[in-house]
Amino acid sequence: ISLGVPKEIFKNERRVALSPAATEVLAKKGFTVNIEEGAGVESKFTNAAYEQVGAKILPKSGVFASDIILKVRGPETSEVNLFKDKGTLISFLYPAQNPELVNSLAQKQMTAFAMDCIPRISRAQVFDALSSMGNIAGYKAVVEAANNFGRFFTGQITAAGKVPPAKVLVIGGGVAGLAAIGTAKSMGAIVRAFDVREAAREQIESQGAQFLTVDLKEAGEGEGGYAKEMSPEFIDAEMKLFAKQCKEVDIVITTALIPGKPAPKLITKEMVESMKPGSVIVDLAAEAGGNVETTRPGELYKYKDVVHVGYTDLPSRLPTQSSTLYGNNISKFLLSIGEKDHYNINLEDEVVRGSIILHEGKKMWPPPKPKVA
Ligand code: NAD
Repeated sequence: ISLGVPKEIFKNERRVALSPAATEVLAKKGFTVNIEEGAGVESKFTNAAYEQVGAKILPKSGVFASDIILKVRGPETSEVNLFKDKGTLISFLYPAQNPELVNSLAQKQMTAFAMDCIPRISRAQVFDALSSMGNIAGYKAVVEAANNFGRFFTGQITAAGKVPPAKVLVIGGGVAGLAAIGTAKSMGAIVRAFDVREAAREQIESQGAQFLTVDLKEAGEGEGGYAKEMSPEFIDAEMKLFAKQCKEVDIVITTALIPGKPAPKLITKEMVESMKPGSVIVDLAAEAGGNVETTRPGELYKYKDVVHVGYTDLPSRLPTQSSTLYGNNISKFLLSIGEKDHYNINLEDEVVRGSIILHEGKKMWPPPKPKVA
């Protein structure tokens, strides 16, 4: 079986679906791996590094002739045209948001797996690219915040004077939020965080942050361990908490998301206006509309005296790291499809069934709901 790894063509996308290390694992298992010339350049993986582990470097057309195409971003139209009929694709696809893309792949009788639809069960943790990319986004959010902040994160007492530690508020304690908390803590900041899910409290506290609470009790857990949309009363209560926090903290990092819904708006323009000059906001929910009223998705800009980081491509801004981890996720996922590394689609496999979007052109998504025992 041949695998094709094209160079990503989405604007400013620096990641690549396989690292040389992941390529080596797959080549040793007997796959022929075809890498597009220069596909790894932005991640600092040279053509030679791939060749050394047994891959072939080919032009785009040769790569797209492979049996299974491995990608990071879902394909653009120009790429869909290059796929061979009855081919296979594994990449991020977000089928709910991209029905037309799914249709165009179906017309080519393709088989497609979405990395974003892999069930988040224990066995599938090694394939969980949403988590590996979320982790990187959380880390990079803090690095961006620090880079745009005029002071240390850590407190210091030196001959030149006493410096107070920066105060950081993290909203949402999922994968990205927890990574942001851990990173900000390790840089010496005082960190506080809030989440609607009670389960997040212990995880937030174990990263060394203070868990903030509101007086109102409402269960925040929805389907599959994710957050649900909270009542207007609850949102109101948490916004009161954030209004108070905004006056105190130097950095706000927001990560609140609800699957399939626009991101909840939690920080208003007035709250931003109440922040200290020089404060920084990083809105990791920017792509889903943002948690902050003044966020501009994709942009770095200043509103009043508050820097807003609205980048929607934070993992891609740490390309070597994200390609390395994504390469591990996708290669291990590929090897799990079948028995003993023998690629063979088994629809009885919960992970395969959850993530397969098209099977030889037939629509498979959404999968049937698991039977409640
Ligand atoms: P996410 O990216 O969808 O959301 C980020 C965070 O925002 C979540 O923690 C969510 O609770 C929080 N949030 C949503 N609305 C909010 C609001 N109004 N105010 C404050 N916070 C709000 O989530 P994720 O990081 O992908 O995953 C969330 C957690 O769920 C993770 O810890 C993950 O491991 C867990 N999870 C578990 C399972 C499972 O056990 N089967 C499945 C999926 C996710």
